[in-house]
Amino acid sequence: MKSTVLAAIGDELLSGARLERNAHFMAGKFHAKGWEVKRIEIVSDSENEIISLLTRWVGRTDILILSGGLGPTHDDMTRQAIARYLGCGLRADDAAYDRVLDRVKDDPKRLAYTESVRDPQAMIPELAQTVFNPAGFALGIKFEREETTVIALPGVPFEYEAMTRQELPEIFTGNEKRTASVIILDTPEMHIAAKIPEVINHTGLHVSILPAFPQVELIIRGEPETVARAEALTRMKFAGLALPEGSTSIADAVLIEARAKGFRVSCAESCTGGLVGAALTDIAGSSDVFNGSAVTYSNDAKRGILGVKAETLRDFGAVSEECACEMAEGSRRVYGADFAVSTTGIAGPDGGSESKPVGTVWFGIAGADGVRAVKRVLPGSRAEVRTRAVRFALAELWKEIRRA
Ligand code: ATP
Ligand code: MG
Repeated sequence: MKSTVLAAIGDELLSGARLERNAHFMAGKFHAKGWEVKRIEIVSDSENEIISLLTRWVGRTDILILSGGLGPTHDDMTRQAIARYLGCGLRADDAAYDRVLDRVKDDPKRLAYTESVRDPQAMIPELAQTVFNPAGFALGIKFEREETTVIALPGVPFEYEAMTRQELPEIFTGNEKRTASVIILDTPEMHIAAKIPEVINHTGLHVSILPAFPQVELIIRGEPETVARAEALTRMKFAGLALPEGSTSIADAVLIEARAKGFRVSCAESCTGGLVGAALTDIAGSSDVFNGSAVTYSNDAKRGILGVKAETLRDFGAVSEECACEMAEGSRRVYGADFAVSTTGIAGPDGGSESKPVGTVWFGIAGADGVRAVKRVLPGSRAEVRTRAVRFALAELWKEIRRA
């Protein structure tokens, strides 16, 4: 099995100021192609750390990809580190840098700036090759030693992605399916494992079980035919609970299901503040299904925009079955949708009471056949309550559309 090591360089990644994205992005791509991802490493902006990283992995893996440290500032150490590791000097690849500059030739300000950082951004270790940057300015670096290909790329995520696509087309193309994902709703992870022992215990398969209320995602990995059989069996055993094939999230499943049936959907959001609408519009092409989401945080907005009755708010409060139902019905009417979902709850950390503790969320689901509401008390921080509420609302909406 071919292997890779993915490294990210940056103090901000080690301090927790930024989340690492590049190595994780590539890990998914290599993994899906059946490569072994031996290690993901994050190291500081330090020449010695980068050299030690190279010493650690050159000769022990097929491809080592470094991300970051190629910019023009004092903390960008990758090119010097590679030159020192190879025992050579640096040269300017002016031809490649001129091609990069060409992209900003009509913008005098950017042209002047980019020209001013030619040194160091065009510098390549003498014993290495240039990797052209189709998305930004800093050139990448590539060399081979002891049967390891080392590729050093800028850390800006869209540049890193563009350059990995350019340098490793074989990792991004082909439709051989070595991994399958099945998302199952409303089933505890232990029940899932117990129902498909043939898949879990298959020696040729590697199965990850990843819970995220109210879903559990199964990622099945192995040889393409074995994966296909395991996926089919899993889908059969969880018919009705598994999201449709090809959907990558509950929001995606809502769009796929509604699109197939010609339905349009809308939302009314209080405690999720627009996150349900955001989850749907995150997916390209959602406009043919999604009409809109009303973010009605105050009682006045719930009344004025969605037509929630004053008596409902007075007698039952905003976090109630009655209010959730009226919000969903109001959204369905205002947006002219076939189905609408609403959220109203107490995300915390304050505002809870004995009868409505923090985490209490009511969800309303309205369709042509009427409206219903369901309550959950969700655990976790404010952020966790809100993300769980988003997934739960979408799951209820999906189930409603599926039954229609
Ligand atoms: P280069 O100039 O080669 O792109 P660099 O990525 O180290 O080097 P920085 O100025 O340190 O340049 O980073 C540019 C931006 O990209 C920063 O916002 C940084 O947080 C982000 N970034 C860098 N590496 C990563 C990474 N591995 N994952 C996510 N974001 C990253
Ligand atoms: Mg950096």
